[in-house]
Amino acid sequence: MQITVVGSGYVGLVSGACFADVGHSVTCVDLDEAKVAALSAGHVPFYEPGLEPMVAKNIKAGRLSFSADMTQPVANADAVLIAVGTPTRRGDGRAELAYVHAAARAVAKHVRNFTVVITKSTVPVGTGDQVEDMIRQTNPAADIAVVSNPEFLRQGNAIEDFRHPDRIIVGINEARARPVIKQLYHPIIAGRNLLIFTSRRSAELTKYAANAFLAMKVSFINEIADLCENTGADVRDVALGLGLDPRIGPKFLVPGPGYGGSCFPKDTMALAQTGRDNASPLKLVESTIAVNEHRKQAMAQRIIELCGGDVDGKKIAVLGLAFKPNTDDLREASSIAIINALQLAGAKIAAFDPQGTTPATTILRDVEYCDDPYAVAVDAECLVLVTEWDIFGSLEFKRLHKLMATPRIVDLRNMFDRAELESLGFQYRGIGLPQRA
Ligand code: NAD
Repeated sequence: MQITVVGSGYVGLVSGACFADVGHSVTCVDLDEAKVAALSAGHVPFYEPGLEPMVAKNIKAGRLSFSADMTQPVANADAVLIAVGTPTRRGDGRAELAYVHAAARAVAKHVRNFTVVITKSTVPVGTGDQVEDMIRQTNPAADIAVVSNPEFLRQGNAIEDFRHPDRIIVGINEARARPVIKQLYHPIIAGRNLLIFTSRRSAELTKYAANAFLAMKVSFINEIADLCENTGADVRDVALGLGLDPRIGPKFLVPGPGYGGSCFPKDTMALAQTGRDNASPLKLVESTIAVNEHRKQAMAQRIIELCGGDVDGKKIAVLGLAFKPNTDDLREASSIAIINALQLAGAKIAAFDPQGTTPATTILRDVEYCDDPYAVAVDAECLVLVTEWDIFGSLEFKRLHKLMATPRIVDLRNMFDRAELESLGFQYRGIGLPQRA
């Protein structure tokens, strides 16, 4: 099969590389010529485990190529995947669809034979209708079927998720798209019953509902964690007991500094707006967003409190900047809001992230970026764990204790052993834990 992927970001590149890896012939197109040049040379411009070798392997095998010009790739394609960004539109929280619309118009100009246009980007319900109208208006002769196939991969585990999905949601309004979709996913489903065909609108809404539900779970356990702190309960025990109920499940019941990333914040906002636009207010989603916004500020306050109520002129050491481990993505990361709030209170920030330091330099100002977790701790009044990278599990706390001005740790992921740290002389504050008597 000839596949063209428009947009070579996290979703487009992972999809393109994985489809090439299972034998399809894939061209990934992107407007960003520097990105296309880097990718053509086998360099992936962001960190995603396993992706760079997979890209290099498939370029070498002749199944994967990159281009800034979509003319031939679209003309030759059996299927075109649109995987461009849909960030929050400035001002109103809706999804910005300009990139999707531009991609649709560009595809329309070059499409030749019957082609299935698959929207992988997360787009509000009804966008598939707009995409189809745009293509037909731009090129009335275009023989296309527009399909919604939202992507559920998680950054940091993207290849595994793409290769072993728990479901593949496909929204089609025309039966003739179905065999093309089956052929596309045939090597990935490998006989399993993973393809769920729905209407296009249902598929579009499923993606937002899934993300909003997961975000709601996170905000829920964060509120329960606060209640645990005020009542002497331990959120780790509560979450364990909750999650063992198969109707609830343990995932996303892990309290922390609030959700971030390129999806949950923007998708909850866009869904809430869709609710308002369609006379179906989504009060749970609205509350989820408000709880999460408050959460990040509350985490900064927690750090200030442990430092005696004042961080003016004090050095705070931050471990982890990416919105989660195994990625270098800082989009909407809690670290940003927390650091900004601490800086506003006068703190001096030093930070270390195993992958996120370079991208952070364009987002966070006046931060001392360090090369390892010990350098960051030198003369610090407090060490704050924001992102739970595995390597932080093997920190030498005796060494940290000696380096710090005052041995205080705020563990926003409950990663460390409180008893061990307290026995070493640290003041420790976790999330949702009972206060010591
Ligand atoms: P991204 O910003 O990493 O990549 C988008 C790419 O599209 C960029 O490289 C950009 O240059 C390119 N682009 C924009 N307009 C273009 C055009 N007209 N022609 C060619 N290229 C164009 O975005 P992403 O994180 O991969 O997300 C893409 C979509 O997938 C979004 O809708 C997002 O919500 C959704 N999604 C993302 C994830 C995730 O984990 N990142 C997971 C599931 C779904």
